[in-house]
Amino acid sequence: MRLKGKTALITAAGQGIGQAAALAMAAEGAVVYATDVNAELLKSYQGVANVHTAVLNVLDKNAIAAQVASMDRIDVIFNCAGFVHNGSIVEAKDEEWEFAFNLNVRSQFWMIQAAIPKMVAQFEKDGRGGSIINMASVCSSVKGLPNRFIYGTSKAAVIGLTKSVAADFVRQGIRCNAICPGTVDTPSLQDRINSYADPAQARKDFINRQPMGRLAQAAEIAPIVTFLASDESIFATGNAYMVDGGMTI
Ligand code: NAD
Repeated sequence: MRLKGKTALITAAGQGIGQAAALAMAAEGAVVYATDVNAELLKSYQGVANVHTAVLNVLDKNAIAAQVASMDRIDVIFNCAGFVHNGSIVEAKDEEWEFAFNLNVRSQFWMIQAAIPKMVAQFEKDGRGGSIINMASVCSSVKGLPNRFIYGTSKAAVIGLTKSVAADFVRQGIRCNAICPGTVDTPSLQDRINSYADPAQARKDFINRQPMGRLAQAAEIAPIVTFLASDESIFATGNAYMVDGGMTI
Protein backbone atom coordinates (compact mmCIF):
# COMPACT_ATOMS: atom_id res chain seq x y z
CA MET A 1 0.00 0.00 0.00
CA ARG A 2 2.33 2.72 -1.29
CA LEU A 3 -0.28 5.50 -1.10
CA LYS A 4 -1.96 4.72 2.20
CA GLY A 5 -3.03 7.93 3.98
CA LYS A 6 -2.92 10.01 0.80
CA THR A 7 -5.84 11.72 -0.91
CA ALA A 8 -5.60 12.17 -4.67
CA LEU A 9 -7.61 14.37 -7.03
CA ILE A 10 -7.62 13.39 -10.69
CA THR A 11 -9.10 15.22 -13.69
CA ALA A 12 -10.31 13.45 -16.83
CA ALA A 13 -10.52 10.18 -14.92
CA GLY A 14 -13.51 8.90 -16.89
CA GLN A 15 -11.45 6.89 -19.36
CA GLY A 16 -7.96 6.39 -20.73
CA ILE A 17 -4.87 7.27 -18.74
CA GLY A 18 -6.79 9.18 -16.05
CA GLN A 19 -8.96 6.17 -15.33
CA ALA A 20 -6.00 3.78 -15.28
CA ALA A 21 -4.17 6.07 -12.87
CA ALA A 22 -7.23 6.42 -10.61
CA LEU A 23 -7.58 2.64 -10.36
CA ALA A 24 -3.85 2.15 -9.78
CA MET A 25 -3.73 4.77 -7.03
CA ALA A 26 -6.84 3.41 -5.33
CA ALA A 27 -5.32 -0.09 -5.42
CA GLU A 28 -2.28 1.35 -3.61
CA GLY A 29 -4.51 2.61 -0.79
CA ALA A 30 -5.07 6.25 -1.78
CA VAL A 31 -8.46 7.84 -1.32
CA VAL A 32 -9.11 8.90 -4.91
CA TYR A 33 -11.43 11.64 -6.14
CA ALA A 34 -11.95 10.64 -9.75
CA THR A 35 -13.43 13.56 -11.68
CA ASP A 36 -14.51 14.03 -15.27
CA VAL A 37 -16.82 16.31 -17.27
CA ASN A 38 -18.73 13.22 -18.41
CA ALA A 39 -20.91 11.83 -15.60
CA GLU A 40 -21.75 8.70 -17.60
CA LEU A 41 -18.10 7.60 -17.72
CA LEU A 42 -17.76 7.95 -13.95
CA LYS A 43 -20.33 5.18 -13.44
CA SER A 44 -17.55 2.67 -14.17
CA TYR A 45 -16.26 3.33 -10.64
CA GLN A 46 -19.38 1.97 -8.94
CA GLY A 47 -18.26 -0.54 -6.33
CA VAL A 48 -14.56 0.30 -6.64
CA ALA A 49 -13.00 0.65 -3.17
CA ASN A 50 -11.38 3.99 -2.19
CA VAL A 51 -12.83 5.93 -5.14
CA HIS A 52 -15.18 8.91 -4.90
CA THR A 53 -16.45 10.42 -8.12
CA ALA A 54 -17.46 13.96 -9.00
CA VAL A 55 -18.39 15.72 -12.20
CA LEU A 56 -15.79 18.41 -12.85
CA ASN A 57 -15.36 20.50 -15.97
CA VAL A 58 -11.81 21.84 -15.86
CA LEU A 59 -12.84 24.77 -18.08
CA ASP A 60 -14.89 26.05 -15.12
CA LYS A 61 -12.75 27.94 -12.61
CA ASN A 62 -15.45 28.11 -9.95
CA ALA A 63 -16.08 24.38 -10.20
CA ILE A 64 -12.37 23.66 -9.71
CA ALA A 65 -12.28 25.92 -6.64
CA ALA A 66 -15.39 24.26 -5.22
CA GLN A 67 -13.96 20.76 -5.73
CA VAL A 68 -10.71 21.71 -3.99
CA ALA A 69 -12.57 23.44 -1.14
CA SER A 70 -14.75 20.36 -0.59
CA MET A 71 -11.75 18.15 0.21
CA ASP A 72 -10.27 17.82 3.71
CA ARG A 73 -6.77 17.39 2.35
CA ILE A 74 -5.09 16.96 -1.02
CA ASP A 75 -1.81 15.07 -1.19
CA VAL A 76 -1.79 14.35 -4.90
CA ILE A 77 -3.17 16.10 -7.97
CA PHE A 78 -3.05 14.44 -11.35
CA ASN A 79 -3.98 17.05 -13.96
CA CYS A 80 -4.80 14.70 -16.82
CA ALA A 81 -7.34 16.55 -18.99
CA GLY A 82 -6.24 17.37 -22.52
CA PHE A 83 -7.22 17.36 -26.18
CA VAL A 84 -5.31 16.70 -29.40
CA HIS A 85 -5.80 18.89 -32.47
CA ASN A 86 -4.42 17.77 -35.82
CA GLY A 87 -2.60 19.92 -38.31
CA SER A 88 0.37 22.19 -38.93
CA ILE A 89 0.57 25.91 -38.18
CA VAL A 90 -0.93 26.57 -41.62
CA GLU A 91 -4.24 24.88 -40.81
CA ALA A 92 -4.41 25.93 -37.15
CA LYS A 93 -7.49 27.93 -36.20
CA ASP A 94 -7.61 30.54 -33.45
CA GLU A 95 -10.52 28.81 -31.74
CA GLU A 96 -8.62 25.49 -31.68
CA TRP A 97 -5.61 27.23 -30.17
CA GLU A 98 -7.79 28.84 -27.52
CA PHE A 99 -9.59 25.59 -26.71
CA ALA A 100 -6.33 23.63 -26.45
CA PHE A 101 -4.66 26.17 -24.21
CA ASN A 102 -7.73 26.43 -22.00
CA LEU A 103 -8.11 22.67 -21.62
CA ASN A 104 -4.50 21.50 -21.71
CA VAL A 105 -2.79 24.33 -19.81
CA ARG A 106 -5.12 26.81 -18.12
CA SER A 107 -6.96 24.00 -16.34
CA GLN A 108 -3.67 23.04 -14.68
CA PHE A 109 -2.97 26.66 -13.76
CA TRP A 110 -6.40 26.96 -12.12
CA MET A 111 -6.25 23.62 -10.34
CA ILE A 112 -2.78 24.17 -8.92
CA GLN A 113 -3.53 27.76 -7.93
CA ALA A 114 -6.61 26.57 -6.04
CA ALA A 115 -4.84 23.68 -4.30
CA ILE A 116 -1.51 25.26 -3.34
CA PRO A 117 -2.74 27.04 -0.17
CA LYS A 118 -4.16 23.75 1.09
CA MET A 119 -0.94 21.86 0.33
CA VAL A 120 1.27 24.52 1.92
CA ALA A 121 -0.95 24.54 5.04
CA GLN A 122 -0.68 20.74 5.25
CA PHE A 123 3.11 21.00 5.02
CA GLU A 124 3.25 23.61 7.77
CA LYS A 125 0.95 21.52 9.99
CA ASP A 126 2.26 17.98 9.60
CA GLY A 127 5.21 18.13 7.20
CA ARG A 128 3.23 16.51 4.41
CA GLY A 129 2.84 18.81 1.44
CA GLY A 130 1.78 17.53 -1.92
CA SER A 131 2.75 16.02 -5.24
CA ILE A 132 1.37 17.56 -8.42
CA ILE A 133 1.57 15.53 -11.61
CA ASN A 134 0.79 17.28 -14.89
CA MET A 135 -0.03 15.53 -18.13
CA ALA A 136 2.31 16.69 -20.89
CA SER A 137 3.35 14.51 -23.83
CA VAL A 138 6.48 13.45 -25.64
CA CYS A 139 5.00 15.76 -28.31
CA SER A 140 5.94 19.05 -26.62
CA SER A 141 9.24 20.85 -26.01
CA VAL A 142 10.75 17.33 -25.95
CA LYS A 143 9.94 16.37 -29.52
CA GLY A 144 8.21 17.94 -32.51
CA LEU A 145 5.80 15.64 -34.30
CA PRO A 146 4.21 16.30 -37.71
CA ASN A 147 0.72 17.81 -37.68
CA ARG A 148 0.64 18.47 -33.96
CA PHE A 149 1.31 22.22 -33.96
CA ILE A 150 -1.29 23.33 -31.41
CA TYR A 151 -1.03 20.19 -29.30
CA GLY A 152 2.77 20.18 -29.11
CA THR A 153 2.85 23.90 -28.30
CA SER A 154 0.30 23.50 -25.51
CA LYS A 155 2.09 20.48 -24.01
CA ALA A 156 5.40 22.38 -24.11
CA ALA A 157 3.64 25.03 -22.03
CA VAL A 158 2.67 22.31 -19.53
CA ILE A 159 6.36 21.50 -19.02
CA GLY A 160 7.14 25.19 -18.46
CA LEU A 161 4.25 25.51 -16.03
CA THR A 162 5.46 22.41 -14.18
CA LYS A 163 9.00 23.70 -13.75
CA SER A 164 7.79 27.12 -12.66
CA VAL A 165 5.55 25.68 -9.91
CA ALA A 166 8.32 23.29 -8.85
CA ALA A 167 10.79 26.18 -8.50
CA ASP A 168 8.44 28.41 -6.53
CA PHE A 169 7.34 25.79 -3.97
CA VAL A 170 10.39 23.56 -3.63
CA ARG A 171 10.89 24.71 -0.01
CA GLN A 172 7.22 24.38 0.91
CA GLY A 173 6.77 20.65 0.55
CA ILE A 174 5.28 20.74 -2.91
CA ARG A 175 6.69 18.68 -5.75
CA CYS A 176 5.53 19.24 -9.30
CA ASN A 177 6.41 16.93 -12.17
CA ALA A 178 5.11 16.23 -15.65
CA ILE A 179 4.72 12.98 -17.52
CA CYS A 180 5.29 12.60 -21.25
CA PRO A 181 3.67 9.50 -22.73
CA GLY A 182 4.19 8.29 -26.26
CA THR A 183 1.14 6.98 -28.13
CA VAL A 184 -1.38 5.31 -25.85
CA ASP A 185 -4.30 3.20 -27.01
CA THR A 186 -7.17 5.12 -25.40
CA PRO A 187 -10.72 5.94 -26.53
CA SER A 188 -9.69 9.35 -27.85
CA LEU A 189 -6.85 7.82 -29.87
CA GLN A 190 -9.37 5.43 -31.39
CA ASP A 191 -11.59 8.45 -32.21
CA ARG A 192 -8.65 10.11 -33.94
CA ILE A 193 -7.89 6.91 -35.86
CA ASN A 194 -11.53 6.62 -36.93
CA SER A 195 -11.48 10.17 -38.28
CA TYR A 196 -8.94 9.21 -40.98
CA ALA A 197 -10.16 8.10 -44.42
CA ASP A 198 -8.40 4.77 -43.89
CA PRO A 199 -8.53 3.96 -40.16
CA ALA A 200 -6.64 0.65 -40.53
CA GLN A 201 -3.74 2.46 -42.21
CA ALA A 202 -3.93 5.26 -39.62
CA ARG A 203 -3.54 2.72 -36.79
CA LYS A 204 -0.52 1.20 -38.58
CA ASP A 205 0.99 4.69 -38.95
CA PHE A 206 0.54 5.40 -35.23
CA ILE A 207 2.18 2.06 -34.42
CA ASN A 208 5.06 2.71 -36.83
CA ARG A 209 5.71 5.97 -34.98
CA GLN A 210 6.54 3.91 -31.91
CA PRO A 211 10.08 2.43 -31.90
CA MET A 212 8.81 -0.51 -29.82
CA GLY A 213 6.45 -1.35 -32.65
CA ARG A 214 3.31 -1.15 -30.55
CA LEU A 215 1.12 1.33 -28.73
CA ALA A 216 1.10 1.66 -24.94
CA GLN A 217 -1.87 0.58 -22.88
CA ALA A 218 -3.17 3.14 -20.38
CA ALA A 219 -2.27 0.78 -17.53
CA GLU A 220 1.37 1.01 -18.67
CA ILE A 221 1.38 4.77 -18.04
CA ALA A 222 -0.32 4.55 -14.62
CA PRO A 223 2.77 3.26 -12.71
CA ILE A 224 4.79 6.44 -13.30
CA VAL A 225 1.85 8.41 -11.91
CA THR A 226 1.70 6.17 -8.83
CA PHE A 227 5.46 6.54 -8.38
CA LEU A 228 5.30 10.34 -8.58
CA ALA A 229 2.32 10.37 -6.21
CA SER A 230 4.17 8.24 -3.66
CA ASP A 231 6.98 9.15 -1.28
CA GLU A 232 9.28 6.91 -3.34
CA SER A 233 9.76 9.97 -5.55
CA ILE A 234 10.20 12.34 -2.59
CA PHE A 235 13.43 13.89 -3.96
CA ALA A 236 12.08 14.35 -7.51
CA THR A 237 10.61 17.65 -8.63
CA GLY A 238 10.50 19.82 -11.73
CA ASN A 239 11.10 16.92 -14.07
CA ALA A 240 9.37 15.70 -17.19
CA TYR A 241 9.25 11.89 -17.25
CA MET A 242 9.22 10.15 -20.62
CA VAL A 243 7.16 6.97 -20.88
CA ASP A 244 7.23 6.76 -24.62
CA GLY A 245 8.20 3.33 -25.92
CA GLY A 246 11.52 4.71 -27.11
CA MET A 247 10.34 7.77 -29.04
CA THR A 248 13.08 9.88 -27.48
CA ILE A 249 15.92 7.37 -27.64
P1 NAD B 1 -9.06 10.40 -23.52
O1 NAD B 1 -8.66 11.57 -24.36
O2 NAD B 1 -9.54 9.18 -24.22
O3 NAD B 1 -10.12 10.85 -22.45
C1 NAD B 1 -10.13 12.16 -22.02
C2 NAD B 1 -11.08 12.34 -20.87
O4 NAD B 1 -11.11 13.73 -20.62
C3 NAD B 1 -12.52 11.90 -21.16
O5 NAD B 1 -12.97 11.09 -20.10
C4 NAD B 1 -13.28 13.22 -21.21
O6 NAD B 1 -14.62 13.12 -20.77
C5 NAD B 1 -12.43 14.07 -20.29
N1 NAD B 1 -12.60 15.50 -20.53
C6 NAD B 1 -12.72 16.15 -21.71
N2 NAD B 1 -12.95 17.45 -21.51
C7 NAD B 1 -12.95 17.65 -20.16
C8 NAD B 1 -13.13 18.78 -19.35
N3 NAD B 1 -13.39 19.98 -19.88
N4 NAD B 1 -13.07 18.62 -18.01
C9 NAD B 1 -12.83 17.41 -17.46
N5 NAD B 1 -12.66 16.29 -18.20
C10 NAD B 1 -12.72 16.42 -19.53
O7 NAD B 1 -7.85 10.05 -22.58
P2 NAD B 1 -6.30 9.90 -22.90
O8 NAD B 1 -6.04 9.61 -24.35
O9 NAD B 1 -5.80 8.98 -21.85
O10 NAD B 1 -5.71 11.37 -22.65
C11 NAD B 1 -5.57 11.88 -21.36
C12 NAD B 1 -4.44 12.87 -21.35
O11 NAD B 1 -3.24 12.22 -21.78
C13 NAD B 1 -4.61 14.07 -22.28
O12 NAD B 1 -4.10 15.23 -21.64
C14 NAD B 1 -3.74 13.71 -23.47
O13 NAD B 1 -3.28 14.83 -24.18
C15 NAD B 1 -2.62 12.98 -22.77
N6 NAD B 1 -1.83 12.11 -23.64
C16 NAD B 1 -2.46 11.12 -24.33
C17 NAD B 1 -1.70 10.32 -25.18
C18 NAD B 1 -2.34 9.23 -26.00
O14 NAD B 1 -1.70 8.74 -26.94
N7 NAD B 1 -3.56 8.80 -25.69
C19 NAD B 1 -0.32 10.52 -25.27
C20 NAD B 1 0.28 11.53 -24.54
C21 NAD B 1 -0.50 12.32 -23.71
